[in-house]
Amino acid sequence: MCGIVGFVGNQQAAPILLNGLSKLEYRGYDSAGLAVRSGSELAEVVKATGKLKNLREKTNDGYALSGNCGIGHTRWATHGVPSKTNAHPHVSGNCTGSASGAVESDVVGVHNGIIENYQELKDKLIRHGYQFYSDTDTEVVIKLVDYYYKKYKVGPIDALAKTMVRVRGSYALEVMFKDYPDEIYVARKDSPMIIGIADGETYVASDVPAILSYTKHVYYIGNNEMAKLSAGNVVFYNLDGDEVEKDLVEITFSAEAAEKGGYEHFMLKEIHEQPKVIQDTYNAYVKDGDIDFSNVGLTAEDIQAFSNVYIVACGSAWHVGMAAQYVFEDLANLPVRVELASEFRYRKMPLASDGLVVVISQSGETADTLAALREAKSKGLKTLAIVNVVGSSIAREADYVCYTLAGPEISVATTKAYSTQLIVAYLLAMKMGVVRGTLSQDVCSGYLKEIETIPQKIESLLADKERLQWFASKYSNAHDVFFVGRGIDYAIGLEGSLKMKEISYIHSEAYAAGELKHGTISLIEDGTLVIGIATQKELYEKTMSNMVECKARGAYLMGLTTSGHYAMEDTADFVIYIPTIDDHFAGSLSVVPLQLLGYYISVSRGLDVDKPRNLAKSVTVE
Ligand code: GLU
Repeated sequence: MCGIVGFVGNQQAAPILLNGLSKLEYRGYDSAGLAVRSGSELAEVVKATGKLKNLREKTNDGYALSGNCGIGHTRWATHGVPSKTNAHPHVSGNCTGSASGAVESDVVGVHNGIIENYQELKDKLIRHGYQFYSDTDTEVVIKLVDYYYKKYKVGPIDALAKTMVRVRGSYALEVMFKDYPDEIYVARKDSPMIIGIADGETYVASDVPAILSYTKHVYYIGNNEMAKLSAGNVVFYNLDGDEVEKDLVEITFSAEAAEKGGYEHFMLKEIHEQPKVIQDTYNAYVKDGDIDFSNVGLTAEDIQAFSNVYIVACGSAWHVGMAAQYVFEDLANLPVRVELASEFRYRKMPLASDGLVVVISQSGETADTLAALREAKSKGLKTLAIVNVVGSSIAREADYVCYTLAGPEISVATTKAYSTQLIVAYLLAMKMGVVRGTLSQDVCSGYLKEIETIPQKIESLLADKERLQWFASKYSNAHDVFFVGRGIDYAIGLEGSLKMKEISYIHSEAYAAGELKHGTISLIEDGTLVIGIATQKELYEKTMSNMVECKARGAYLMGLTTSGHYAMEDTADFVIYIPTIDDHFAGSLSVVPLQLLGYYISVSRGLDVDKPRNLAKSVTVE
């Protein structure tokens, strides 16, 4: 998920690799490493945790490593905590190298992405005598390449092809083989990678900025393709090992534009990443059509023992809890309380000792949430964390950890982390329902099929974003915006409202639709924008009535509902439809137009979308 670079040519490789990695720093990472070799000499491997500066210091800015062929990596941990051992490159041998850093291994490699079936492959390799020193999925894939390389003795490309057929997941993989000096082999599926050529030298990177100062000419390697790189030369192969012709493309955009993958802001890029990261997160917990939390250590007996659930979080993560509570209650028939972490930690609330405390945090460092987790533990309750950053404080301290596979989130306003937290919460509620006997396996399977449609349905919402852009430009001067809805729609309104105020600086509030008439409706006047969310079948009529009440007081109504409810256009002035989906999961779709609305209003007001004033990405203070 983070960055890879590679170089083979006439110059010293390591300084070029470090320079490339520094251009990928914006993607966020926890450790970095290099493997460099000189002719048929063994590769030298150097790794460091933390900032790239540490790797620079260790290698004298790369000048301490001789050799003109090498690979480099910045890691955003998905499997195994950030540590020197888990940092890449990984090797096919049994350790990462001697004191000098030289490694005896036949295969050395780096990888961005996730190998979903790594455990099964690891078991197989252990049976074949391989030993593992790290907790990463990457070490498994490197050893698998080595296994096929030795078993079939058919050369690097075939060994890679056999590996690609066997692994599931996403990867941008770069490997060097001891027997093939001055060559780098790469393979790719669903993780970005480009190859650049200039003046008899060849570059690899996961993103254009890393090589833009050396060349503007790149090849885009396709999904399920491989390539063999040597100085100034590249040959592409398909999975059958046949050569593939490719055109060199000239980069005409700036490094800054490239960093954002061509999007104007990280927030928009991250909104568009949602289908992929939702799929990745789903794949981490659904195996062969069944929800599987065994890698989290959560057993059926554990689940049976919980009498109720406390969801504790801050900001958008708290909104995830607000939406998830309806799903937990309905599918697992468990009493749920959703608490703000900053309140929970100071309340003298009687807690059931057999309750489960679920804490949610993107960074895993949110101070209030961490304190709430400690408070719950000190009272003897079991804790489960839903976090994005592997090895973070909350992940280390919770009894069970469910990672979201959202990848690094750069924009301060969360989008993709929120959406993946929601997916984990659904799966947890469903698993609890099945174990507790409140949800049949059949109905659960039907729900899984519904969740599987979310990525593609979000794609279709994103394809139609221009309507929202137009609407946002019309309403960019609004003073007050009200979001109303009931049940899950109310919870999504809370998130839509927060998106609006945090990046657009427009005052907004989310209200349970039925609550408005108990006071707040006095704020509605001519032209006030009211956004009514009505995706829940049973509550549709009720929410519509509340929208009509607002309209009668002069509100301008935007409606957000499910496809088919076209009658909403008779009442609302502007309507956005989400694709049909089971009501429990509608929030995963309805939040997307609201993210886009906040985004486009911020853009049309000329604000700093990714870094709104007064806010920090992870709130590590009380
Ligand atoms: N899954 C790999 C790991 O955890 C690669 C992560 C990355 O893309 O940086 O080491």
